[in-house]
Amino acid sequence: MKLFGTAGIRGTLWEKVTPELAMKVGMALGSYKSGKALVGRDGRTSSVMLKNSMISGLLSTGMEVLDADLIPTPALAWGTRKLADAGVMITASHNPPTDNGVKVFNGDGTEFYVEQERELEDIIFSGDFKKARWDEIKAVRNVEVISDYINAVLDFVDHETTLKVLYDGANGAGSLVAPYLLRGMGAKVFSVNAHVDGHFPGRKPEPRYENIAYLGRMVRELGVDLAIAQDGDADRIAVFDEKGNYVDEDTVIALFAKLYVEERGGGTVVVSIDTGSRIDAVVERAGGKVVRIPLGQPHDGIKRYKAIFAAEPWKLVHPKFGPWIDPFVTMGLLIKLIDESGPLSELVKDIPTYYLRKANVLCPDEYKAEVVRKAAEEVERKLSGEIKEVLTISGFRIALDDGSWILIRPSGTEPKIRVVAEAPSEKRRDELFKMAYSTVSRMAKETEKK
Ligand code: MG
Repeated sequence: MKLFGTAGIRGTLWEKVTPELAMKVGMALGSYKSGKALVGRDGRTSSVMLKNSMISGLLSTGMEVLDADLIPTPALAWGTRKLADAGVMITASHNPPTDNGVKVFNGDGTEFYVEQERELEDIIFSGDFKKARWDEIKAVRNVEVISDYINAVLDFVDHETTLKVLYDGANGAGSLVAPYLLRGMGAKVFSVNAHVDGHFPGRKPEPRYENIAYLGRMVRELGVDLAIAQDGDADRIAVFDEKGNYVDEDTVIALFAKLYVEERGGGTVVVSIDTGSRIDAVVERAGGKVVRIPLGQPHDGIKRYKAIFAAEPWKLVHPKFGPWIDPFVTMGLLIKLIDESGPLSELVKDIPTYYLRKANVLCPDEYKAEVVRKAAEEVERKLSGEIKEVLTISGFRIALDDGSWILIRPSGTEPKIRVVAEAPSEKRRDELFKMAYSTVSRMAKETEKK
């Protein structure tokens, strides 16, 4: 059995994620590492319960625990590098309020590498935990990380602004950082959904366009220079420009990729396999190189390819600040960029438009791999002659000669198969998407029937 998906352990409370599991992860982590562990949590209703189990598990192995309590994931990663030998975040990120999970960090702020996750799973399933003798059990210390973290981001961004910014925190943990950070830069801040509430009363915590479309109208009514939206644990960022238009998540990546490559006069940018061709277009134009890597492993990509920048949709890593996904650095640098060369709607104008469509096909976890493989093989057969490259990392990414691509991959966190198509025109996109989607749906039905 595998506990870790693309972003740590995640699942529905009692179905997969339980206080017992959290304690075992703590016992395994304390058997694997020693010294100090920094523990944090998001605002979900089950997060305090799970955090306390996690702390018990860690203490039972002799680890010293620093309790940061309610905190956004990026601040926990930063705090881990500063204060501890390992970090643990209790969160289910952008999942529904019924879910929860665990993300584990190394002492340098990197998320656990895939091999480390396997080693932790081995310890959990073997039950071979370190047991601290009565006089080896350490204390729990409450630590305040957030204000130091805000100051560190302010120092790194090093910019004062007079922009007006609308912030939507999804009632998540980012609400404890973003409004203060933005005000610290001098911005005039308007906040919505910016009190922490594990029921997510304001909106669904995933900051995809459908969930935050209302921000466009608010931007126009308030006359702000940009709007920023986050997810439940605040590692994601979504952006609207000063006209109230949603800035596509690939465009945000392309904007920063271009910035970093231009600054260095070259360099490698690593992006996840579900990102689009506009990134390649701007990076190649600026003399850099794009490498596509599996989802959930930007930290691994940075190390492997000595990358100057890494990203997944909505998740940007700024290696000069730290090897974790950090939207607070993203928002700070974005404001700086707008002040220096904006407005935002102008900044994104020379990034070419590609048209993307994505949807999920429901499929039980046990059939996902087989359905993905069979469907991809059939799609490849249908497109033979036009194929430029097929990447088989976290699924199949079939890139075509005209810049179009199709991605078919199993979700790492849910019983779904993700189907994505992107092309230089809407017509071409729809044609490719329909073909891929119907192939996956048919394969899913046929495989389940057997
Ligand atoms: Mg998240």
